Amino acid sequence: MMLAWSRVLRALRLETSSPRIPKTCLFLSSAASWTSLTTLGLHTKPRMPPCDFSPEKYQSLPYSRALEIHKHHLPSIAITYFQKPLLLHQGHMEWLFDYEGNRYLDFFSGIATVSVGHCHPKVNAAAQKQLDRLWHTGSIFFHPPIHEYAEMLSALFPEPLKVIFLVNSGSEANDLAMLMARAHSNNTDIISFRGAYHGCSPYTLGLTNIVNSRTELPSGMGCQSTMCPDVFRGLWGGSHCRDSPVQTTRKCSCEPDCCQAKDQYIEQFKDTLNTAVAKSIAGFFAEPIQGLNGVIQYPKGFLKEAFELVRERGGVCVADEVQTGFGRLGSHFWGFQTHDVLPDIVTMAKGIGNGFPMAAVVTTPEIAKSLEKRLLHFSTYGGNAMACAVGSAVLEVIKEENLQKNCQDVGTYMLLKLAKLRDEFDIVGDVRGKGLMIAVEMVQDKMSRQPLPREEINQIHEDCKNMGLLVGRGGIFSQTFRILPPMCVTKPEADFAVQVFRAALIQHMERRAK
Ligand code: PMP
Repeated sequence: MMLAWSRVLRALRLETSSPRIPKTCLFLSSAASWTSLTTLGLHTKPRMPPCDFSPEKYQSLPYSRALEIHKHHLPSIAITYFQKPLLLHQGHMEWLFDYEGNRYLDFFSGIATVSVGHCHPKVNAAAQKQLDRLWHTGSIFFHPPIHEYAEMLSALFPEPLKVIFLVNSGSEANDLAMLMARAHSNNTDIISFRGAYHGCSPYTLGLTNIVNSRTELPSGMGCQSTMCPDVFRGLWGGSHCRDSPVQTTRKCSCEPDCCQAKDQYIEQFKDTLNTAVAKSIAGFFAEPIQGLNGVIQYPKGFLKEAFELVRERGGVCVADEVQTGFGRLGSHFWGFQTHDVLPDIVTMAKGIGNGFPMAAVVTTPEIAKSLEKRLLHFSTYGGNAMACAVGSAVLEVIKEENLQKNCQDVGTYMLLKLAKLRDEFDIVGDVRGKGLMIAVEMVQDKMSRQPLPREEINQIHEDCKNMGLLVGRGGIFSQTFRILPPMCVTKPEADFAVQVFRAALIQHMERRAK
């Protein structure tokens, strides 16, 4: 027992000599040990911040029926979290309610999608107004929402990124961007990072290098992957590589403006250019921060140099802003701005519509013309009146409610609190991110950086949910918790999330010690 407890304490980085813990509280009988932690304030169930919204009474299918229908009529590969998948029935801003009326703080936003808040009243009102006025005309006719939206969205981009193609999903946006890159360059090969997710359509599957995207089925002709410059898990990384309030615990001796990790990863990128693709290429796709791979941040300066190398080979540079756009990163509205680069094509989805299915590709007039010379691009629903009305309302809310600044303030606040957990628990390997795009990567121990086994992470995830906090997962071993809440969350809610996470980690250490 003593040995087990000392393991718990070591993992918590609380030695028996720690001034914070009176020695008498330690090494009690197992029944008393729970009390000892409670006495120390380490094991009280965190109190959920208040919410003045009451959900309607759930009156739909019983849970067992929903489960049956799912089993028989929905694809079995659809990913669901938790031993008993959540049946949600209502949302209000950052809150979700399940069929039994339980309330959850949503820190994953329907996979980084609900940008301004579930059922935001202004967005709902705009959707309702348009619903009663005109749903659809197709792009063969003019309607005011499309022009209003195109003007608002284009104003958010620097010259020459001023032409907008409206589509319906992130995959469709990236499909179109691939086509544009090829039509414009007259080349075929496109490079993306290992670990990247850019979509699940047959074309974008070639760019996606995570979660079983490599299959025996033919797809992705002309796509090549390159090493992801991951400064935590990758071959190189140091103590000030990334644009985040929290750095890795890896040490380096680089001067602040000279990153050796970046130089090493650029050598790998050159190697890909020299060995894996044709002399002239069509382009390079990158998320400014990788989402599904677990909020991976590249070393500062990497994208700038990579963009130059791609352009030397005749390729165009595509920023996939599906997760990083619309102010989520706090310091800038678009992720590419945080790298001080100007892409040739920008793709976006998810947060653009706060959950309404819409997406866009923004490019230069020159690239748009190259595509139009070869192909009449057409999408029945792209630029749909409902989607455009919703998109305009989302942009207005981001501005009126200062949500970009909220991402910066609450995100930085939360990152610094989570960094303390990383210092406290050996199994928290890394805390990273920017604004409200945050990750906590779980490891067996900091020295090895080996991923914590999936079953253990599942249990921590489950415990967080049971305490009322929903977070996401990511990384090739599903070893990372992803935190991308609606952009309206507050500091007290961030405090609650950190407390829940800490309580779940303590519970986990106790389970291990048994
Ligand atoms: N790009 C990125 C960065 C994404 O995260 C996703 C979705 N997870 C996509 C593209 C594809 O978007 P969709 O699911 O809307 O097709």
